[in-house]
Amino acid sequence: MNPKETTPVAAQYDLVIIGSGPAGFTAAIYGARGGLKTALFGGIAPGGQLLQTMDIENFPGFSEPVVGADLMQAMLKQSARLGAEIFTDEITAADFTRRPLAVTASDGRTFTASSVIVATGARASWLGLPSETKYTGKGVSGCATCDGPFYRGKDVCVIGGGDTAAEDALFLTKFAASVRLIHRRDALRASFRMQEKLKANPKIEIIYDTVLEEVLGEAKVTAIKLKNVKTGAYAVIPLNGVFIAIGHEPATAIFKSSLKLNDEGYIITDCRGETSVKGVFAAGDVMDPSYKQAIIAAGAGCRAAMEAGRYLEELKK
Ligand SMILES: Cc1cc2nc3c(=O)[nH]c(=O)nc-3n(C[C@H](O)[C@H](O)[C@H](O)COP(=O)(O)OP(=O)(O)OC[C@H]3O[C@@H](n4cnc5c(N)ncnc54)[C@H](O)[C@@H]3O)c2cc1C
Repeated sequence: MNPKETTPVAAQYDLVIIGSGPAGFTAAIYGARGGLKTALFGGIAPGGQLLQTMDIENFPGFSEPVVGADLMQAMLKQSARLGAEIFTDEITAADFTRRPLAVTASDGRTFTASSVIVATGARASWLGLPSETKYTGKGVSGCATCDGPFYRGKDVCVIGGGDTAAEDALFLTKFAASVRLIHRRDALRASFRMQEKLKANPKIEIIYDTVLEEVLGEAKVTAIKLKNVKTGAYAVIPLNGVFIAIGHEPATAIFKSSLKLNDEGYIITDCRGETSVKGVFAAGDVMDPSYKQAIIAAGAGCRAAMEAGRYLEELKK
């Protein structure tokens, strides 16, 4: 859907940023500080995925773990102090075929900009079990890189069968006493090389043909209930951590017809973060199928804003 040409333009910016995670706010900090008239549209609960986590131990600058909501609130305040206008509207449509570029907010207003940064992030896919939701952050995690070190000497499982699940299982063996890789089919989708590594690792047990029925616990996870899909048999396994690794969904639905996406829906950019449309940049998890870490998203937001600044300088020549 494209913004209606007839809608009056609410405001014109040098730079519009769509998304309010570390990528979006870092882009806003650099854009505003670089003298660009900058607006950030962040949705009703700005802050992104880090709002879901209490303990961030790997974002540089904090000697003690920082709460995700506190870190994101600080980024928001920093962006606003430096002059970025922050809107809590969601962007529902974008027209990158016209100049200036145009975006439509959820209340129907259209905003135009000489450059746009898409930083809408990605969402970890979940199984959808009520007990999974109940214990998210209390033993259930969607990010092994983020939360693995909290499970030193503990027993954990990974749900999934692709390369990411395999990588997560291998990574977790650095900390955990044991790692069960639980897959619903009778063969993993992970590459042959990955499967070899899994089988060679004494801490890993692969459980095939099995689905997670329920996460059990009290204040924190204490066990999982599994169901064998072939025999129908149930089993309860005591453990401390459940890592869900069944994929991510980049938030690119509204850009499907305007930007080049890869097969998994991630925005394709060049090494400067520029998308298939000149003047439109992307940063963070929405263009990063590999790393999905806050510091990488922030770095990509910085790069995109600097490149947007350079692009605007070129336009003036
Ligand atoms: C539970 C959990 C724990 C994690 N722990 C860590 C950790 O310890 N360390 C670490 O480095 N990383 C961690 N991560 C990963 C990290 O959160 C992400 O890599 C990072 O947040 C990506 O930032 P981003 O700016 O690309 O996007 P996101 O954080 O996904 O933010 C995107 C934002 O844009 C908004 N948005 C989307 N579409 C629109 C639209 N159309 N209009 C307006 N707004 C929109 C979304 O609502 C969201 O608020 C964790 C992730 C999760 C889920």
